[in-house]
Amino acid sequence: MLRALAIDFNSFFASVEKQERPELRGHPVGIVPIMAETTGCIAVSIEAKALGLTRNARVAEARRQCPGLVIVEARPAVYIDYHRRLKDIVESCAPVKKVQSIDELECELSGDLAVPAQALALARRIEEKVSRQAGPCLRSSIGIGPNWFIAKVASDMQKPDGLVLLDNTDLPQKLLRLELRDFCGIGENMEARLRRAGIDTVEKLYAASRDRLRAIWGSVEGARFYSWMRGEPQEREASRHNTIGHGHVLPPQLRNDEAALAVLHRLLQKAAMRLRHSGHSVGDSIQWSGTSAFDPTSGLLYFSTITSSDGGARAILQLANYQGSESNNSAVPDSGSTLLMLMPVILGVGLHRMRRSNASTAC
Ligand SMILES: [Mg+2]
Repeated sequence: MLRALAIDFNSFFASVEKQERPELRGHPVGIVPIMAETTGCIAVSIEAKALGLTRNARVAEARRQCPGLVIVEARPAVYIDYHRRLKDIVESCAPVKKVQSIDELECELSGDLAVPAQALALARRIEEKVSRQAGPCLRSSIGIGPNWFIAKVASDMQKPDGLVLLDNTDLPQKLLRLELRDFCGIGENMEARLRRAGIDTVEKLYAASRDRLRAIWGSVEGARFYSWMRGEPQEREASRHNTIGHGHVLPPQLRNDEAALAVLHRLLQKAAMRLRHSGHSVGDSIQWSGTSAFDPTSGLLYFSTITSSDGGARAILQLANYQGSESNNSAVPDSGSTLLMLMPVILGVGLHRMRRSNASTAC
């Protein structure tokens, strides 16, 4: 039974720039947070990816690897505006159940839409409407499945312009060629744990019992993973987190101020998006004094200190490094790398920056 449709907009930031600036079309494009040769690309266009360029590539190296690369400074407010327009367009076709990130939406399928032919027709309708109303540069990969977990995997199977439907009868056969890391929830560290347990293929992952996965994960998450892989309905628990943040283990070549700042920008945008989506906002006085308070009932997150946005981001970077050295977060275990744990104060800066750059942005 089909229950979810996952839409991932391809090379989102770069595609928005191409839509807005026709002179960029046909050229490989890299999006950077600040114009500097030493910074990293927070996003690269479909053409650049086809030439082997990946996100996080440093500008100087990216230029060598990809002759003719056009470097464009990121415009977060424009991307947020496009996100909203795209969400409205998708919503006019099917109910949006969740904003997964600035470039990923999840729709719920029920009734007629849960029938494969109807679900595929819906996907084509969304693509056509997005192209007509937001612009032809806004391309997407759509996955359809019995739950979001499978729909997400399906949306990653064809890029760009993908449309993949996986029904219960396709499981697990159509997934056996994938890598463990292709599944949402298996990162570098979880992959290492699975390998240590003798699970190095998707086939072996499917062969493992529910209890075994629970033991490997060390939590009920492993048992959930077992169910999701089999297409069982995916009910998320209401979030009880009092912080919203994103963490990312920096690869060695990005362990310098400028590249780390570029990654930080991207994480900030993602985290801020989630914070707004959850209906919360920051108080007017955004300052950091070492503590934060979150009030879910009034939807407010209070901070103390942090003044200029750039100085703020740098201050947070130091804080994040400090947090990383002390943190032992099981979701993103430190494997000897610098771990950026983004705390609410960083979200505060993210929202603050967006508010400043676009007065109409409601938080
Ligand atoms: Mg995308």
